[in-house]
Amino acid sequence: MGALDKDEARKSYATIEGSRVLRMTAVEPRPDLADLERPALESALEARGHKRFHARQIFRWIYKHGVTDVAAMTDLSRELRATLSGEFALTTPALTHRDISADGTQKFLLRLADGRHIESVFIPDTPANTFCISTQVGCAMACAFCLTGKMGLVRNLTAGEIAGQVRVLAGALEMRDKKFNIVLMGMGEPLHNYDDTMRALRILADEHGFGLSARRITLSTVGLLPALERLAISLHAPTDLQRGELVPINKKYGVADIIAACQRFPLNRRSRITFEYVLLAGVNDSPQDARKLAKLVAGVKSKVNLIPLNAAPGIPFERPSDEVIDRFAKIVADHGVSVSVRKSRGRDIRAACGQLIVEGPRKSAAQQLAVVM
Ligand code: SAH
Repeated sequence: MGALDKDEARKSYATIEGSRVLRMTAVEPRPDLADLERPALESALEARGHKRFHARQIFRWIYKHGVTDVAAMTDLSRELRATLSGEFALTTPALTHRDISADGTQKFLLRLADGRHIESVFIPDTPANTFCISTQVGCAMACAFCLTGKMGLVRNLTAGEIAGQVRVLAGALEMRDKKFNIVLMGMGEPLHNYDDTMRALRILADEHGFGLSARRITLSTVGLLPALERLAISLHAPTDLQRGELVPINKKYGVADIIAACQRFPLNRRSRITFEYVLLAGVNDSPQDARKLAKLVAGVKSKVNLIPLNAAPGIPFERPSDEVIDRFAKIVADHGVSVSVRKSRGRDIRAACGQLIVEGPRKSAAQQLAVVM
């Protein structure tokens, strides 16, 4: 160990330090216009010496006109556009693939800025036109019958990526001026990415953007409490014993907790909570299950939406026969509970509930199996 070594060491330390400083300045992230709520955008503009009211113009360009580049915002001066382009990013998911089902449902594969992929689905004429959008890449909830669950959680989506799906779909379908509903029933558990999901909903609701009213938005959750405005809860079984097998998070938030939280939830006079219930042959579809379910939800202002399983390779469950589905629905209805059976759309292109999955670099054994089969 001579003096030389020490010098060398000091030099390389300095280099590392130097490059660290360099790297920090190089990747200092610019705020993303697509990721900001309007009040936050107003503050960000003001902080950079611009007028707050430009936020309204920017919102109109991004959401009403579908512009993806500041340079195209032609009611801002040329200088302002040039400055804003340096100060802010404007990121939009790239549409890389589109599948169209025989029933008119369309599935969109979108590539995010980091190369990850998500799927979003357009479900036409139900009679509403509905965008089914994702809140996470993958999902951590690992429900036993869901393909997305097989991916595990890769990462949360940002608010800009969640709202960005609506921008891309509205553009690709030429529906910017049309009315549409949003269901957060794509990939992911929205309440597991609570902050960005809520921020995305506020962005979508902004009167200078899409102006979507809360009435048009349905958030479906596995039951991570608390929840919001309009709820659909994925119940799937009437007892903790059964639900625990299907929905792992039930060990933390059980059936009784969910029902109690629903009873406490302040609902508007005309609103009801939707309980989703995936029907799995021989698992939760018996007459006894139907009676238990009806009794369980009787104390909540609610309706039940039965979802016959969309079977998939690697998912160890079967869809019940139509007779069993009808019998189940009838028993629930006979108990005075409002019940509907979801007609699954887009099954031929794997766009239906629980069928959204994109192959990532890290494939689980079950996912590999699903691809092979
Ligand atoms: N994480 C949210 C959104 C999931 S998708 C939630 O759990 O509610 C919307 C609905 O489709 C949920 O009720 C989900 O449990 C259901 N689902 C998942 N996989 C399915 C499958 N293979 N067949 C039918 N429905 C499924």
